Amino acid sequence: ACEPGFYKSIAGDQLCAKCPLHSHSETLASLFCQCDSSYYRAASDPPSASCTRPPSAPVNVISTVNGTSVALEWSPPLDTGGREDVQYNVICRRCMWESGHCAPCGSGMAGGSGASRGIRFVPQHTGLSEPAVSVLNLMAHMNYTFQIEAVNGVSTLSLEPQRYTSVNITTNQAAPSQIVVLRQETRSQNSVTLLWQEPDRPNGVILEYEIKYFEKDKEQQSYSTLKSKGTSATVLGLKPGTRYVFQVRARTSAGCGRFSQTIEVETGKAVSLRYDTMTIIWICLALVTGLVILLTVLICKKRHCGYSKAFQDPDEEKMHYMNGHTYSTPCWFLPPPPPITFPESKFYIDPHTYEDPCQAVHEFAREIEASRIKIEKVIGSGEFGEVCYGRLKLPGKRELPVALKTLKSGYTERQRRDFLSEASIMAQFDHPNIIRLEGVVTRSKPVMIITEYMENGSLDSFLRRHDGQFTIIQLVGMLRGIAAGMKYLSDLGYIHRDLAARNILVNSNLVCKVSDFGLSRILEDDPDAAYTTTGGKIPIRWTAPEAIAFRKFSTASDVWSYGVVMWEVLAYGERPYWNMTNRDVINSVEEGYRLPAPMSCPSTLHQLMLDCWQKDRNERPKFSQIVSILDKLIRTPDNLKVTATLNSCFMPQCWRLCLKPRGGGGDAGLFSTVDEWLDSIKMGRYKEHFAAAGYLSLALVMRMNIDDIRRLGITLMGHQKKILTSIQIMRAQTLSVNGRGVHV
Ligand code: AMP
Repeated sequence: ACEPGFYKSIAGDQLCAKCPLHSHSETLASLFCQCDSSYYRAASDPPSASCTRPPSAPVNVISTVNGTSVALEWSPPLDTGGREDVQYNVICRRCMWESGHCAPCGSGMAGGSGASRGIRFVPQHTGLSEPAVSVLNLMAHMNYTFQIEAVNGVSTLSLEPQRYTSVNITTNQAAPSQIVVLRQETRSQNSVTLLWQEPDRPNGVILEYEIKYFEKDKEQQSYSTLKSKGTSATVLGLKPGTRYVFQVRARTSAGCGRFSQTIEVETGKAVSLRYDTMTIIWICLALVTGLVILLTVLICKKRHCGYSKAFQDPDEEKMHYMNGHTYSTPCWFLPPPPPITFPESKFYIDPHTYEDPCQAVHEFAREIEASRIKIEKVIGSGEFGEVCYGRLKLPGKRELPVALKTLKSGYTERQRRDFLSEASIMAQFDHPNIIRLEGVVTRSKPVMIITEYMENGSLDSFLRRHDGQFTIIQLVGMLRGIAAGMKYLSDLGYIHRDLAARNILVNSNLVCKVSDFGLSRILEDDPDAAYTTTGGKIPIRWTAPEAIAFRKFSTASDVWSYGVVMWEVLAYGERPYWNMTNRDVINSVEEGYRLPAPMSCPSTLHQLMLDCWQKDRNERPKFSQIVSILDKLIRTPDNLKVTATLNSCFMPQCWRLCLKPRGGGGDAGLFSTVDEWLDSIKMGRYKEHFAAAGYLSLALVMRMNIDDIRRLGITLMGHQKKILTSIQIMRAQTLSVNGRGVHV
């Protein structure tokens, strides 16, 4: 009999074997050794095999996202559990952006049911023997979590949960998915009308559909394509009695999707008409009579009708809707209409006073047919959907570049109402510094607002992209434009409530135009916005204290916001009040603190900002005064030469030192290294230039002159000036021995 610690599978003369690794026998004459705790023997393992355990998790997962596919690779687990049959399973979970909620990829999720159809794992998702897998057909712009678990022959025997490693990925943009429903609507001898459904996953705004068609069996010889904006198209010029093959695919800014399955349609057979001589004579007579009547009508119209709708310019047409007149009675039966006069509307009309926003929008804005618009690319994303660049061609007008604000599909009635209200407001404005509305598309999808196109996009990002690159006169010119636009709005009685550099757009001539007239503009995830005790969201940093505290919005509160925009412009898109919290901003402003002059800001301009930020709103200047002050400054630029109090308030950490009580003196920032100083003046990109030239301490930096700065290889004039001014300020501060100067 074998001793404990030994075993013999079959009774006989052979020797006892020692218990294999991780197993034991506690009694005499054991036929096999039992596995130690947490170790197992698979059903196929012989008694002589060591006991093993499940592997640890795989390590070093690398994910490579390519559009809507991801390649996952990993290294084998550090502990294989003592076995060689390690395999891998990959579990996919899709996570919603908003809620963070994740669900298995195969299941539908709220708001996206069925959308995860068709995910493919190559080679497969379970039982992988190689540490790699590719996952295809994911949704665009979506978060996914993949759990990769390692298993071996004893994993199913263990009660412990499987060990896995997770990796989170976000997919990118992708071409639209394939169109699956395509059918023939009508056909004739020479044409076929096709209808299809938008692809399941458009993955963006569909710019157009491409219809490919060819005669059956002749694809190799030639095929034709046709473009369509909507989900139907009529293919003309076909041969009678011929079988054609059709396919459709969608295009977005990310590219073209796959062509749909083909459908075959045979055009109608040609019918040869035979007319006798009498019929031909009758047809000719009818044509001649018709022509005579037409000519008579035209001559009459020319003589008697001073005004004809048929010859109207589209703009005039819009005016007609505004006036509520229609000329349905043929005009030669009427006396000439009186000249049309439009009452000078002094105030803008709030579209929310209309029960039906569609009625309001058509009262003010003209409806444009979608076929007149070519959408070319996506340029931004707005509150309601993507903003695209495109071209608009109206009859009798030249083609215009336009911005197209789209309303994303799946919108609620409330969103449609707010979206169209913005168009109704814009349509009432007509000023060179207010974004011009070209029209709306409401009768087809996507619903769109069409406005003039501003090449340089929004002012805040434009300034950040061109930090330090404009002359002060150019900046004042931009500010003057914004003030002129705001004056126009305030004269009409319109209050903006949300004016910030982000609501202003810039064209290629540096002309700024005020935009964003939605009444619920504040984005849910806008970090600048905060709920107030009085309800509703407010962009705290740009809003006057009385508007925050009591919702007292007025032209005077818009003037306050304008002051903050002035500051943003002169600080090249710096964030007002840096990284202070909204609560700190409210408290500091309440205590009388105000933003200091940005670097190199003329004192007159800072004074104007301070005036806009008067606590008493009646003390603030009117927009008309702001326009004339800026006009004077442009005419006499000498007044722009004196820069405001010396301060170096571009260190977010020291905002309290930087804010000044109204009427208080300047204050110094605190820097201890060259890098810190460069960061504080937003010139951090030149850290290496300074270090390479040996300027390792502020003491050395303070001895630099303009030539030294140029020698560093800093070529932009604006940046040279900014750095030099800051050096001069530091020098002045150390000289002024105020005990709180720069630590050198
Ligand atoms: P919005 O919904 O107005 O905030 O627009 C979102 C983004 O689209 C803006 O930040 C701009 O970058 C861009 N955008 C909006 N309107 C125009 C326009 N008229 N011309 C050029 N870009 C625009």
